[in-house]
Amino acid sequence: MADLMEKIVSLCKRRGFIYQSSEIYGGFGSCYDFGPLGVEFKNNIKKSWWDEMLRGHETIVGLDAAILMSPKVWQASGHLTAGFADELVECKKCHHRFRKDFLEKNKCPDCEGDLTEPRKFNLMMKTFVGAVEDEVNQTYLRAETCQGIYMNFKNVLDSMRLKIPFGIAQIGKAFRNEINPKDFIYRTREFEQMEMQWFCHPREADKWFNFWKEERMKWYLDLGIKKENICFREHEKGELAHYAKKAVDIEYNFPFGRKEVEGIHNRGDWDLSGHEKYSGKELSYFDEETKEKYIPYIIETSGGVDRSLFAFLADSYEEIKGGRTKTTEATKEIEVVLKLDKKIAPIKVAVLPLVRNKPELVKKAEEVFELLKPHFMAQYDEVGSIGRRYRRQDEIGTLFAVTIDFETLEKDDVTVRDRDTMSQERVKILDLTQFLEKKLSE
Ligand code: ATP
Repeated sequence: MADLMEKIVSLCKRRGFIYQSSEIYGGFGSCYDFGPLGVEFKNNIKKSWWDEMLRGHETIVGLDAAILMSPKVWQASGHLTAGFADELVECKKCHHRFRKDFLEKNKCPDCEGDLTEPRKFNLMMKTFVGAVEDEVNQTYLRAETCQGIYMNFKNVLDSMRLKIPFGIAQIGKAFRNEINPKDFIYRTREFEQMEMQWFCHPREADKWFNFWKEERMKWYLDLGIKKENICFREHEKGELAHYAKKAVDIEYNFPFGRKEVEGIHNRGDWDLSGHEKYSGKELSYFDEETKEKYIPYIIETSGGVDRSLFAFLADSYEEIKGGRTKTTEATKEIEVVLKLDKKIAPIKVAVLPLVRNKPELVKKAEEVFELLKPHFMAQYDEVGSIGRRYRRQDEIGTLFAVTIDFETLEKDDVTVRDRDTMSQERVKILDLTQFLEKKLSE
């Protein structure tokens, strides 16, 4: 499995998905940049989540709150106290630092040295707003996107004239000064979250918790994650976060083990009550029908864009030893296919002239590329043998390859090759856009 990890990291760099941040300066601790294919892939995941939340459920609205907020938010939320701190230990010999709960024994995993007593290490990233770097101007990069949602609970409720239950969804960056960032993009200090906060009557919290738990699992399965690689894990009482009444993780079978990709939490009235107390502003809800006033409970679905992207990558990665190509040149090499779902695959269609030394073929292929480009994320490739080009596209998960050959010049049709079945069919150029649109929406 460690081998799979190396292969994924290498593929990501080689094919323009993910690069180490600031690489020419030796890299920058646990930060990654998403390349041309990575950003497409990521945007597709985010769009799919956004559509699922906002179009799939009529009572959810969107929000894009600022990353920087009043430091009072973080006092009220409990993030500046022990609640949002991990236990840090340091090796007395090599001075490497570790998160205590990640260690299997009480020795340094790097040199077997003795460890210091654990101390609390707060994960909030500090920054300063304004010209003077003093305590008054100090604030934090948000550690979770949901606080921006709580800040706007009343604004959204009033301006959108909503009734409980309803949800607010948001996608955005979050920052945590993790002690041990590791496992590629799994645990980083800067990452992106997709969070939805569902405001409901306390009596109905359990019902909604179960509802959202199932909905979220369905999203991963619908986007192609194999059932045997994903599961729920309920939190024990002792491991619940400071805000949670109940929590379940969705865990994926990563190359380094089963780990959380998303959490579903019943946060009770912790957040709104806390902010009401600290701000002095009323944050309760008045039900016009029952004349009841109460602080809503919050059911949260909190997923990581980067972690889910990693799970989609790992799950769709397939190697075929000796190659699967029967019609074009035999390779004897290992062929890689990324069997990404059509909604999230970064490139939908590749346009390939059969050979590149025939100007009339190249001209026609360029015309076909221009035709498809406004409709689909498309890539043009004329370098290397056709078999090699198919393999290059399979490796990045491209769904269809359109080949322009000599018959095209006579009949104005092309072959369309399907990534998964490798079957090829001839389609008139005139019908090509519609044909692909239909295939991609099936
Ligand atoms: P962990 O136990 O792995 O540190 P957590 O339980 O603290 O995670 P939550 O606070 O529930 O995580 O955050 C919700 C989601 O945000 C996680 O399921 C994950 O997808 C994402 N996330 C949290 N921390 C990170 C990180 N350091 N790097 C990448 N994604 C993260």
